[in-house]
Amino acid sequence: MPEQTRSVTFKNVSKRYPGALAVDGVSLEVAGGSFVALVGASGSGKSTLLKTINRLVAPDAGTVLMDGEPVDAVPAHLLRRRIGYVFQNIGLFPHMSVAENIAIPLRLAGERNTAGRVAELLDLVELPRDFAARMPDALSGGQRQRVGVARALANGPGLLLMDEPFGALDPVTRDGLARAIRALHDRMGLTTILVTHDMAEALLLADRVLVMSEGRVAADATPRALLAGGGGDAAQALVAVPREQAHRLAEMEGGGSR
Ligand code: ADP
Ligand code: MG
Repeated sequence: MPEQTRSVTFKNVSKRYPGALAVDGVSLEVAGGSFVALVGASGSGKSTLLKTINRLVAPDAGTVLMDGEPVDAVPAHLLRRRIGYVFQNIGLFPHMSVAENIAIPLRLAGERNTAGRVAELLDLVELPRDFAARMPDALSGGQRQRVGVARALANGPGLLLMDEPFGALDPVTRDGLARAIRALHDRMGLTTILVTHDMAEALLLADRVLVMSEGRVAADATPRALLAGGGGDAAQALVAVPREQAHRLAEMEGGGSR
C-alpha cells in the first residue's frame, strides 16, 4: 500500500451547535486505502463530522486521529496540506486561470515552478492540458469540479474528503465524474470519504457505507451487505429507493407494457 495512505479514527466525537446536537458520540475507524460513503438525510451531521477531520470544525468532546495522531497535534495549515477537500460549487477563484487555481496549494507550500505539476494534475483528472490557460467561467460545471479535484490533489494528499461534490451536476456528468474519482482513488491508493445523500451513488462507489441519522452512525455495512438486506431499518429505508426504481425500470424493459 502506498505510504501516503491515511487512516482516520473517531473516538467518541461530539459537536453541539446552539439548537442542534450535530454529531453525537461517533466512534469509528476508517482504514487506510478504503473508500467510505457517508449517507444520510439533510441535517444528519455528515458535513460536521467530515469537517472535524480537517479541523474546519472543532469537536466539543472526543478525538479525531489521522494515522493514529490527533489532528490537533499539528498546525491546521500543515494538517490540511495532507488532506484534499472537495465540496459542492468548489469555489474556483473567477479572476484566476485554471492553472493558477490548481497551483494555489503548491504556492502555499512554497513551490515556484508549478507548470509541470499543473499539467500532470490536469492529466490526472482527464482535462486537456491547454485548459490551463482558461478562466473558470469558460468551463462546464463538471469540468470545474474536475479542476477542484485537481487542486485538492495538488499536494499529493493521502486522504481525500468530498462533501456532495457532484450535487450541482446533471446525472450523466455526475456519473462520469464519480467513476473518474473512484478510478483515481484506486490508482493513487487514497483513503476517500465521500458525503452524499444519494444511496445509489454510495452503493455503486464505496467499499463501505455509513448511514448517519441525528448525529449518530445508524448503520455501517458494505454495499453487498446492504443489498442483502443488512444494516438495519434506517439503512434499508434508503436502499429501498434505488432498488425500487431499478425494479420498475427492469419491468418496463422486460414487459414492454408501456
Ligand atoms: P448534513 O451535512 O448531514 O446535512 P450538517 O452537519 O450540516 O448536516 O448539520 C447537522 C446539524 O447541525 C443540523 O441541524 C444543522 O442545522 C446544524 N448546523 C450545522 N452547521 C451549523 C452551524 N455552523 N451553526 C449552527 N448549526 C449548525
Ligand atoms: Mg452537508
